[in-house]
Amino acid sequence: MAKTKSTSAQFVSTGICNFCQGEFEKPRMSQHLKFCKQRKAYQETANSTDAEKTRLFQLFVEGRYLPMYWLHLEMPASALLEDLDSFLRAMWLECCDHLSGFKVGKIAYSSPEPYFEWVDEEQDEPDTEQPEAENVVPDEVVAATDAASPQAKLTPDEAIGNLVELLYTEYRAYLTDLIGQPLEEIENKLLDLFTTRVQSDTTLLGSPEVQKEIHSLAHVIEIGLMESLAQADEENQYMDVELEKAVQVGTKFSYTYDYGSSTYLTLKVMAEREGVPVKDEDGDLVRILAQNVPPPMVCRECGKPATHVIAGYYDVTENALCEECAKKSEFRDGMLLPVVNSPRVGVCAYTGGVEMAWEFEEEEWEEDEEDEEGEGEEEGE
Ligand SMILES: [Zn+2]
Ligand SMILES: [Zn+2]
Ligand SMILES: [Zn+2]
Repeated sequence: MAKTKSTSAQFVSTGICNFCQGEFEKPRMSQHLKFCKQRKAYQETANSTDAEKTRLFQLFVEGRYLPMYWLHLEMPASALLEDLDSFLRAMWLECCDHLSGFKVGKIAYSSPEPYFEWVDEEQDEPDTEQPEAENVVPDEVVAATDAASPQAKLTPDEAIGNLVELLYTEYRAYLTDLIGQPLEEIENKLLDLFTTRVQSDTTLLGSPEVQKEIHSLAHVIEIGLMESLAQADEENQYMDVELEKAVQVGTKFSYTYDYGSSTYLTLKVMAEREGVPVKDEDGDLVRILAQNVPPPMVCRECGKPATHVIAGYYDVTENALCEECAKKSEFRDGMLLPVVNSPRVGVCAYTGGVEMAWEFEEEEWEEDEEDEEGEGEEEGE
């Protein structure tokens, strides 16, 4: 309806160099960082201290499908992929502790510890975990049980989401023996998993929505298993691997946060140098050299600057609202998310990261300890 108000077609992405505060078009930033005088001065100051020099990688990161969100970073080559993962989560992505992973060529690097706790270890009444005790679990125990346990009441969406996460984290245990099996076998396995591990309440399993999802999931898995036959040489590792063991200058790689409502990032190692890494007080290993200027986001109803996006749309820029129109709209609570400078804007429950982008205050160039604290850019309700 208000498509003509969209500015995305004419939009040229620019970013700010964190050393000189200069604004440059996205394709020119890499070149600028090479020659930025303030950056050079900063490096010389850092290198003149007694601190130990180390190999540093300069990385470029952008949203694969939302490339107007981008960063130039620097971090020690000896830092772990895990450190980069933590940084990306804090800066751009974290909403509900979803799984994530890097992919470098044929090697997939995933989080060492799957976050899902299927059995509540702190449960002091082991009886409640026994199937025969299921129907006599007192209310308090049900309330205290992990939301992912089969007893928890889930919506069809949540239940399917949990099933997918379960398959993702433990696919070797459940799926590899299904390679080459007919579709019905795969579907039976999923139904079995669903009742034993996701939701024991069979009314949910009986719902047409869940039946349909499981059926299509079985199809997808069948295709995936065929593919895994073809890619048998693919390697799986954990991301507690040093960057320099996984990538080198010129390596392009990818990152996925959340295997449900995924945010995909593309990364490239742009350059390397020997220098003193900058660590701030909380020990962050990753420094932001440059970041995109927030792209314009206008209200789809009136064209004023938008403050909210409607959650769940593929194209968030076409589904943004200003404060006023948001109030007038039928969208409530969880359906509206704040406009944030991140490729995860409008996805899942993402409300913005820790503001770390503008840390290169001149005072920090001195050796003086600064106790500046990053502040969240969005206030929670
Ligand atoms: Zn600069
Ligand atoms: Zn989430
Ligand atoms: Zn409006």
